[in-house]
Amino acid sequence: MISSLNSFDSINSNMQMASVAPKTEASEPREVEFSYQPQDAVVMEPVSVKIPVVNKGILRPETPNVKFGRSIKKPIPPIIRPNRDGNYVFDSKTQTKKFIAVDTMATVQHTFDEMKSIFGEGMTFAHDREKISLFADKGEKMNAYYTRLFGGSLNFFHSTDPLSKEKFYTGSSGEVISHEVGHAILDGQRPWFMLSFNADTQGFHEAFADSTALFMSTQSDETCQLAAQQCGGDLRQDNCLANCAEQFGQVINKRMGTDVTGGNYLRTFRHDYKWQDPSTVPAKPDADHPITTEMHDWSQIFTGAQYDILTDITARNIREGMDPAQAIKAAGRESMEILAGAVKTSPERDASYRDMALCMLKYDAENNDGRNHDVILDNMIKRNILQEGDDTPTAADMQAMSSSENVTVTLSGPEYGMFSGAEVTGSSRHGAPSLLKDLKNLIKNGSILYTEPNQSVTKEDLFDRNGNAYVGVVRWVDGKMTIEQTGMIS
Ligand SMILES: [Zn+2]
Repeated sequence: MISSLNSFDSINSNMQMASVAPKTEASEPREVEFSYQPQDAVVMEPVSVKIPVVNKGILRPETPNVKFGRSIKKPIPPIIRPNRDGNYVFDSKTQTKKFIAVDTMATVQHTFDEMKSIFGEGMTFAHDREKISLFADKGEKMNAYYTRLFGGSLNFFHSTDPLSKEKFYTGSSGEVISHEVGHAILDGQRPWFMLSFNADTQGFHEAFADSTALFMSTQSDETCQLAAQQCGGDLRQDNCLANCAEQFGQVINKRMGTDVTGGNYLRTFRHDYKWQDPSTVPAKPDADHPITTEMHDWSQIFTGAQYDILTDITARNIREGMDPAQAIKAAGRESMEILAGAVKTSPERDASYRDMALCMLKYDAENNDGRNHDVILDNMIKRNILQEGDDTPTAADMQAMSSSENVTVTLSGPEYGMFSGAEVTGSSRHGAPSLLKDLKNLIKNGSILYTEPNQSVTKEDLFDRNGNAYVGVVRWVDGKMTIEQTGMIS
C-alpha cells in the first residue's frame, strides 16, 4: 500500500510540486534564539528557545530537521530578517507574520529534539527522512495537517473572524504544532499505522499526537509552574495541561455560535470516556455513546488514560518530595517514555488500544522494574481498554499481536451504500471479516470520500467540512471502484 500511495503521489503531481530544500551552503550550526509558544496563545505569553540554524543564509533560516517548504501556490518561502542581534525573536501581535514563521519552525524542531531524547538517536520522519518541509501559514483554512506525500510536510493555516477581522493562526499554538509533529514522528516509527482502516489504530495516531502536545507542555518550566499554580499538582483539577488547543477551540465555538467542543478548548483530557466495541457505536453520539468512532473523537479514550497515568505519576512524585512543578515535568517525561517504549515494541500494522496498553506494561516491566505496573493497569482497566486479570504480556501474547496480514475484500450489500462494489486492500488481524467491519465503521462515521469516475481530486477535497482528513478515498481503476488511503492526517 505504500507503493499505491506513491502512485497517488504521481497522479496528483499537479497539486504540489515536490518540496526541495533551498540551495544553501552548509556550515556549522549556530545556536540562535527563536520565539517559542510552548502551550497556547490564550494560556500564556510566548517565551524563547535556542535552536541550531544550519544554513549560512540568514533570511530563510533552516534547522537540522526543518526547512520552509515550497509549493506551486507558495513557490517562495517567507523572508525573515533576524533582529540586529541575529536572533529570530518577534512580537506576536505587531510582527505576527514573522512571529508565526519562526515560532512554528522552533516548535517543530524543539518537539523533534525532545522526542528524539526519548526515542533515541535513530529517530527520523517517515521514509527515514531527516528533514521535513514546513508551511507555517499556507492560507485561509481552519486546519493543520501532516502528510508524508511530496517529501513529507507539516501544514498550518489561518482563519479570519468575519466580524472583528481578527486572524487566528493554527501555527500560533504550541499544542497544535506539537500534535502534528507527533503524527510525523509516529509515521516514522510505524508507517503502517496511518494506512490502517482500524478505529483503534487510527485513534491511536491521534492519541499519540495529543500525547506529544501534552508531553511538550510538561517539558516547559513556565507551563509546569502555571499548571502547578492552577491545580497545586493535582492534575485531576482543571489546569492548562489538561486542555488542548484552547484558542483553536474558542474560535470554533465562536464561529458555530455554540459550544460544540464542550469548553474553552479543542479537546480536554479530563473525562471518563471508556472503550466500547466500535461496531456498536452509532454514527451520532447518544447517552450511552458519548463519542463517535471518528478518529479525533475515538482517540480521547486512549489520551484520557495517558493523562490519568501522568496524573498518578505526578502525585507519586509529590509524595516522594518533589515540588508540584518539578513533579509534573518528571512525570511528563516518564509517561512519554512509557508510551514511546510501547510504540517501539508494538505491532507493525494494526494495533488496538489493548495491544498498546499491554506494550506499555511490557516496556515498564523491562525498563522500570514495573514501577508503573499498577498505575498503567488500573487506568487502562478503568477505561475498559484492559480487563481484570490482564497483566504484562508474555512472548506468546506479543506474537499473537503481530499476526496482521494484507487482505483484499469487495464491499457488497446495502450497508455499504454508494461504496457497495468497491474493492479494498488493507491489513487485518482476523482476515476479511474484521477488515469489512472496519470499513463499515469508517463509512458509518463519514471517513471515506466518494468520488465519481474521472473526477479530478484536489488536496482540498481530501478534508471534510470539519477540516478532518478523510481516511480513505474512492479511486476508479480500469472502471472498477477501489478505496485507497489518503496519506493525510489532521
Ligand atoms: Zn491529528
